[in-house]
Amino acid sequence: MPEKRVYDFLIVGQGLAGSLLAWQLMRRGQRGRVLDDGHKTASSKVAAGLINPLAGMRFNHSPFVHQWLEALERCYGKLEEAAGRRFLHWQAMVRLFRSPEQVRFFERRAADPHDRDLLGRRFGPDQSGEPVHAPHGGFIQRRTGHLDLPALLAFMATWLNEREALQHADVDFDGIQLHDETVRIGKLAGRHLVFCDGYRSMHNPWFGYLPFAPDKGEFLVLEAAADALSSRLPRRIVNGAHWLLPHADGYYRLGSTHDHRHQDQQPTEAGRRRLTEGMKELLLHPDALQLRDHQAGVRPATSDRQPFLGTHLQERRLHIFNGFGAHGSISIPWYSERMVQWLLHGEPLPENADIRRFA
Ligand SMILES: Cc1cc2nc3c(=O)[nH]c(=O)nc-3n(C[C@H](O)[C@H](O)[C@H](O)COP(=O)(O)OP(=O)(O)OC[C@H]3O[C@@H](n4cnc5c(N)ncnc54)[C@H](O)[C@@H]3O)c2cc1C
Repeated sequence: MPEKRVYDFLIVGQGLAGSLLAWQLMRRGQRGRVLDDGHKTASSKVAAGLINPLAGMRFNHSPFVHQWLEALERCYGKLEEAAGRRFLHWQAMVRLFRSPEQVRFFERRAADPHDRDLLGRRFGPDQSGEPVHAPHGGFIQRRTGHLDLPALLAFMATWLNEREALQHADVDFDGIQLHDETVRIGKLAGRHLVFCDGYRSMHNPWFGYLPFAPDKGEFLVLEAAADALSSRLPRRIVNGAHWLLPHADGYYRLGSTHDHRHQDQQPTEAGRRRLTEGMKELLLHPDALQLRDHQAGVRPATSDRQPFLGTHLQERRLHIFNGFGAHGSISIPWYSERMVQWLLHGEPLPENADIRRFA
């Protein structure tokens, strides 16, 4: 028997995107139901959750970066209040120049008065204050940190479960039925369906035409060797050709690789070798850390590096909120606010993200 209740929104995927979108909608009185297959392919589950407003080699940033930062404080702050614990950890980032040319990109960024809050002091070769190789010097980056994604996802699952809004299901695209007034998945009916299913949307019959460019990433989990002196271990996030993130619980993450050819969650021998080499290039005392784990996931990246937000051109009940690539933690709070305004009030989406750019 089909359920009598018709949800306002069915959402496929309880990664960071589906979780925050569901939360934003339900806070506004919408009835939502999230379907997830137990995070089988969730990149949110393995992501380091780094918050880095100047992520690229050229220290470029999105024109919305300051709005992203305001929205993430608003969003994660409210969730922290509800959960009674912290998810967002602000930590300075020691950014290492990888070449003398990179200094020019830094100087250009430093000349922009709008970006002063993102930049701290510059330091010369091997003056970083951390036990790392820094032959070209670098600078301290501000407004950086990391989001504890596993804890946030677990809290969101509890929050949704308490409202009977989370269901374990592996949604088969062929089983989705479109009717005039509803979308149906098995016994469930909703007025709208939003796909927040990460890179697997590339096989979606309605949105698979979008230029997804999934990007498999591997990283290492490390811990201090038994005899390691604390002066041999970085205390802050360091970021050069690879990054190292110290966690409060004593673990470290070192990442990451990029592979556009494979879409699976299997760590590889080649990935481990590349990361181990990267660790040696980064750290003055690589032996101070020992390997605990090696993991992999697939970033839902896109060919123009912009997310995919919007509504199917013919099927007005089908929507997508996806394509956040390597920047989900910093950008999803703001984009989820924009998506809700679009879904509930028809307010235009930011042009860079609106899937109508591919119409
Ligand atoms: C190695 C690595 C490092 C990263 N580091 C960072 C970082 O430092 N900072 C950062 O901001 N981002 C990072 N990312 C990227 C980050 O993970 C993403 O931007 C973000 O988490 C994407 O969230 P999402 O909800 O869109 O997708 P996902 O987290 O992939 O969630 C999709 C969910 O949908 C489920 N699903 C899919 N299809 C179905 C179906 N048919 N039926 C039911 N359920 C389904 C999946 O199992 C999953 O639970 C990293 C990613 C990787 C892989």
